[in-house]
Amino acid sequence: MAAPTISCGRGWFRARSFSFGGVAELRCRKSLALTSTPCRSASRTAAKQNRDVPWTAVVGLEIHAQICSNSKLFSGSQVQFAAPPNSLVSFFDASLPGTLPVLNRRCVEAAVTTGLALNCTINKKSLFDRKHYFYADLPAGYQITQQRLPIAVNGSLSYSLCTGKNQNELVNRTVRVKQIQLEQDSGKSLHDDARHQTLVDLNRAGVGLMEVVMEPDMCCGEEAAAAVRELQLILQALGSSQANMAEGQLRVDANVSVHHPGQPYGVRTEVKNLNSARFLAKAIDYEIQRQINELENGGTILNETRTFDYKLGCTIAMRDKEGQQDYRFMPEPNLPPLILYDAKSLPTHTSHLQVVNIDPLREKLPDLPSVKRAKLVERYGIQPQHSFTLLNEDGLVEFFETVMTATQMNAKKVIGWILKDFLGYLKQRNLVVDESPISPLLLAELLNLLESGTISSSAAKQVLEIMWNREGKSPTLIAKEKKLELIRDLNELEHICLGVMDGHQKEVAEINKGNKKVLNKLIGEVQRATRGRSDPASVKQILEKQLLLQPRNKPLS
Ligand code: ADP
Ligand code: MG
Repeated sequence: MAAPTISCGRGWFRARSFSFGGVAELRCRKSLALTSTPCRSASRTAAKQNRDVPWTAVVGLEIHAQICSNSKLFSGSQVQFAAPPNSLVSFFDASLPGTLPVLNRRCVEAAVTTGLALNCTINKKSLFDRKHYFYADLPAGYQITQQRLPIAVNGSLSYSLCTGKNQNELVNRTVRVKQIQLEQDSGKSLHDDARHQTLVDLNRAGVGLMEVVMEPDMCCGEEAAAAVRELQLILQALGSSQANMAEGQLRVDANVSVHHPGQPYGVRTEVKNLNSARFLAKAIDYEIQRQINELENGGTILNETRTFDYKLGCTIAMRDKEGQQDYRFMPEPNLPPLILYDAKSLPTHTSHLQVVNIDPLREKLPDLPSVKRAKLVERYGIQPQHSFTLLNEDGLVEFFETVMTATQMNAKKVIGWILKDFLGYLKQRNLVVDESPISPLLLAELLNLLESGTISSSAAKQVLEIMWNREGKSPTLIAKEKKLELIRDLNELEHICLGVMDGHQKEVAEINKGNKKVLNKLIGEVQRATRGRSDPASVKQILEKQLLLQPRNKPLS
């Protein structure tokens, strides 16, 4: 039976004049007092003495990934992005008295596959807890999470960074995964300052989340962004989350601290709700620098929650954490322990428990991004860093592989066209692969024209330029219409070469003196004279032959 839903007149639940004004003011005063302690001048002297000692930053991430499931974690109501406000809310999601949670098997399976893919130990028994806090979009006054015994622990995530001048050196890194826990999402509040009211949408209330908690093993924004990107690719490969950051399906909280090498870790701040890889990196790097500046100027770092203002490019204090921490965790009385088992540990006496078998999930694990990359490198002989770029752009692997099935050109050359010309163009125009006006088959047709010697590579670039603006138009037709096909008549080509030699006697003399490099300039001139319609190899041959025929250091005509 479909879950009953409730909605109010305008679609939004209203919490009138919902404001934390007074509390915010109190907190403000508290932090002011903290930053102007009498010790400040003493610590400033110490800071000055320490100024030459380098700083090290430490970054640990807490990532909420929305589980890809048709229904919520504990209720049957649907999960759907951008549905009308409060149209997907069951009695349980709205915390009506007497409603009970029913665990969604799909969500458990998604968390287990994610745990397996992140090399975690899957806890055969895990528990649910209530985490209490008051907010208008949390009608129960608590969130069900897994505080005492999460579903998966002690894993790791390997990722790589592209470094070097041309971003073509790969550095491998690993971050430890502390735990993965299942929990409910909250609803959404919309603060309408003009009307002094807060509107509440409970569509998201109760949607299943996996919280992935990482150990503080990273040291800068770039590393954190690369780790999150790898996690995103893994979740998408598993299908456990769509992990679309723009739609809020992957939300990252970054914990940041700085310390002097060899000393204990510093006090951390937490930058909340970063939902783009670029802002994540920027926010972390800003926060590291801010903390260093603060400490070098004799200040202290508060254990506080901050937000990233992407317009100003800086982090701003939201509330300090100490006052926030007592969530009054308690066991969720309405959910029995979650029991998982495999062939080695068949469950006994489980009739009253929630049970899931791990074995079929382990067997069905798909290829993870690292395996996909290794296969691309092995199959096509491309550079490992190219396999990273292919996987990092949504849809690019499929695009590349379709081109490969339809072209005679070798993969190393194809990858150059795809990463430099094709991707470069898309990036310039802010397009994703799916939005490309050029299909893989048309690109393959173009590369075949080049490979078969019908057009030169500079003509191919001209044809490609036209293809961007003439969606669906065949490159063969374009090459014909624009007369860009290679000049096959060698007599005609010879005539053009002689003309170019005639017009560049200084260069001819240079070559005759033994400076062979100048020959490339002449080849380029022939290319220009023919608008890219000459085959450089044939031109080279003709020029060399003609140069030999010319008497040394004499004008050509
Ligand atoms: P809490 O229980 O207060 O949430 P956790 O131990 O669960 O603390 O850590 C939360 C996150 O903070 C983790 O991602 C962890 O890696 C990170 N973290 C812990 N200590 C530091 C630190 N000194 N600097 C930066 N990040 C840290
Ligand atoms: Mg935490």
